Amino acid sequence: MPQLPYDLAGKRVFVAGHRGMVGSALVRRLARENCKIVTATRADLDLTQQMAVDAWFRTVKPQAVFLAAAKVGGIHANNTFRAEFLYENLVLATNILRAAHETGVEKLMFLGSSCIYPRLAAQPMREDALLTGPLEPTNEPYAIAKIAGIKLAEAYRLQYGRDFISVMPTNLYGPGDNYHPEHSHVVAALIRRFHEAKVSGGKSVAVWGTGTPKREFLHVDDLADACVHLMRVYSDAGLVNIGSGEDIAIADFARAVARTVGFEGAITSDASRPDGTPRKLLDVSKLASLGWRAKTPMDAGLAHAYASYVDSMR
Ligand code: GDP
Repeated sequence: MPQLPYDLAGKRVFVAGHRGMVGSALVRRLARENCKIVTATRADLDLTQQMAVDAWFRTVKPQAVFLAAAKVGGIHANNTFRAEFLYENLVLATNILRAAHETGVEKLMFLGSSCIYPRLAAQPMREDALLTGPLEPTNEPYAIAKIAGIKLAEAYRLQYGRDFISVMPTNLYGPGDNYHPEHSHVVAALIRRFHEAKVSGGKSVAVWGTGTPKREFLHVDDLADACVHLMRVYSDAGLVNIGSGEDIAIADFARAVARTVGFEGAITSDASRPDGTPRKLLDVSKLASLGWRAKTPMDAGLAHAYASYVDSMR
């Protein structure tokens, strides 16, 4: 295995999923690392096709890989497209991990997600909570696929000495988010809904569920910075949580989004929509001990996300 710190300078670094919110943030952050960023569009490389992925890795020979490609969505999308969330996430993770192993990639980071910890894991959730209890039913297919990816990365490390590491980001938001009214995550959904209400003069905006679930949010540029940091300094089989270390009730969060957007009407709750898991806060003490902390305060992060949403509407 390569020595620590692992230096990305001069390396061919493949960002799988570079069009997504996380992948594009990684590309922005890696631009400061003096490495050669390699990407592939969906037309050039279908990550769900094993032979295509194998051939691409043999030709391009990336030395480091950030595995940020995934089929993602909010609570409704996860709960509805259960077959696609399980199949696509499983197959693209196994294809990339195996090709990285076969072609001798020096270092690989697999990105999991905090929603794959057990539904009722003790809060804040430590890395060793993984696989200690039943999953949240609404996103179980996605979680099963991500857990399989983490275990495959770990297996290549333990069996073959591959320097594959896995991280667990919390709920993310920022430029490049998906603003679909039904299929997005809560941050993007609320930015859009409050904005549209403000523009159309709407009197009230409904927030899904009871408003009592709590969530932790991290700006995606902070995540990318943490990933690059861990790629340098971390090499072990254990996961590393990446979060801000603070959570907020959805009802309070909705008020913060309304403030950011400048919506002054009423906020109501739509009880026909699911709450999902009651609380999801990561224990970030391991990350802190590795020398990284979140930098973007929520108000500044929301203002930035809102500006990028308005920009993308133009
Ligand atoms: P989760 O963290 O996997 O549950 O993903 P989401 O971001 O989809 O949902 C987080 C929380 O926000 C849940 O309790 C949702 O019920 C709540 N929520 C409130 N309004 C919305 C909305 O408009 N869209 C989504 N996706 N969630 C919402």
